[in-house]
Amino acid sequence: MSYEKLPLEEFYKTIDELKPKFIERLQKAIAIPSVSSDETLRPKVVEMAHFLVDELTTLGFQDIQLKDLGIQPPPVADANLKLPPIVLARFGQDPKKKNVLVYGHYDVQPALKEDGWATEPFTMFHDKENDILFGRGSTDDKGPVMGWLNVVEAHNKLGWELPVNLVCCFEGMEESGSLGLDELVAKEAQQYFKGVDQVTISDNYWLGTTKPVLTYGLRGCNYYQIIVEGPGADLHSGIFGGIIAEPMTDLVKLMSTLVDNKGKILIDGVSDMVAPLTEKEDQLYDAIDFSVEELNAAAGSKTSLHDNKKDILKHRWRFPSLSLHGIEGAFSGAGAKTVIPAKVVGKFSIRTVPNIVSNTLDKLVIDHVTKEFAKLDSVNKFKVELIHDGAYWVSDPFNESFTAASKATQDVWNVVPDFTREGGSIPITLTFEKELGVDVLLLPMGRGDDGAHSINEKLDVPNYINGCKTLGGYLHYYAKA
Ligand SMILES: [Zn+2]
Repeated sequence: MSYEKLPLEEFYKTIDELKPKFIERLQKAIAIPSVSSDETLRPKVVEMAHFLVDELTTLGFQDIQLKDLGIQPPPVADANLKLPPIVLARFGQDPKKKNVLVYGHYDVQPALKEDGWATEPFTMFHDKENDILFGRGSTDDKGPVMGWLNVVEAHNKLGWELPVNLVCCFEGMEESGSLGLDELVAKEAQQYFKGVDQVTISDNYWLGTTKPVLTYGLRGCNYYQIIVEGPGADLHSGIFGGIIAEPMTDLVKLMSTLVDNKGKILIDGVSDMVAPLTEKEDQLYDAIDFSVEELNAAAGSKTSLHDNKKDILKHRWRFPSLSLHGIEGAFSGAGAKTVIPAKVVGKFSIRTVPNIVSNTLDKLVIDHVTKEFAKLDSVNKFKVELIHDGAYWVSDPFNESFTAASKATQDVWNVVPDFTREGGSIPITLTFEKELGVDVLLLPMGRGDDGAHSINEKLDVPNYINGCKTLGGYLHYYAKA
């Protein structure tokens, strides 16, 4: 892919020069254990918000606001527990420039040394031999958040203007369901976020470990349960086996009608809703750096349903899947208990993709299970229902922002990025797209093996530093698009 390069060498060089300072900034951020799910650490989450305010102030950001989100709804131990604030800030308000909103989160997952960390999780460890920064939040999401600040610092040092007006939205509850974010975004859509042209989120990862990616799609998830209820209490099979209708028998039969063991969804009408694969989309899969071996390594087995890269990726990203998750109320311990469970609840979900219509899917699922239950001619009570749903997201990987991000990536990494989707969900993506009515770009910094939610979370120094260059370069290319 050829493109007209912008003269950004000075900027990229400045990022390199500031490397020690940027590593120190990340180290300070990691040192604050801003674990949003731990109520006792809530003051640390708030401290992290204030750390950001101090950094933003020093760098010359304007209109810095801490948005109060009120009291955290139950379940909480402390009924008066306050949600951490959302940090808003701007850099520049030039009406001639485009406005880019950047989102990140400053809270982190819990981490204890005893969980198996090689080093203290909240004391950044720089492994100089391999040039890796270890610490909770290094890649998720303090590295990327510091990345945006670093971009501004490099511009300040050069005496350059930012090519766009930057609007920052940093939240402190992402790892705990983003409580309060949807309301805040809706409320500020025509206030603080008025005039935003584009939203960039840096809070996901490369697919692998060597090739940068830009992410243009996420699957949604509709989660259902089937409830089958019979006897008034759990019974003993020695007394009641063979003479009463057992709920578990009905449920297992019902669940077996949902999907076959090759992953094919057996509910009529679901596959008809899936968007046809275009040739242009099909070609995107050719270049992607991925292999069956990588899947086997990630799964810890050789149990792939597909024997080639393209089929694996398509089934992870652009086709729906149905998974059976569990049965509540069933005997699940070790041993040989002879119980007949009185009430069992089967849980399953469908990962959704374009153009599945969520409530049409619900109807197809409910009609299917209801019809299958009728076939059983059972005397048990039955119900099937949706527990929750979250929509899929897909963007145009050939639009202005993806094209700009691709050019910046090529400047920095010397390679055309892979255009990827993800099999899971990032709900905030949809929130921003829906409330602001603009395109969203997912521009990841870290690698696929960073261990965002596990022990020994890390960010490779090249990813951090080149990530800063890519974020900044992206703003320049987008400004010119
Ligand atoms: Zn994250």
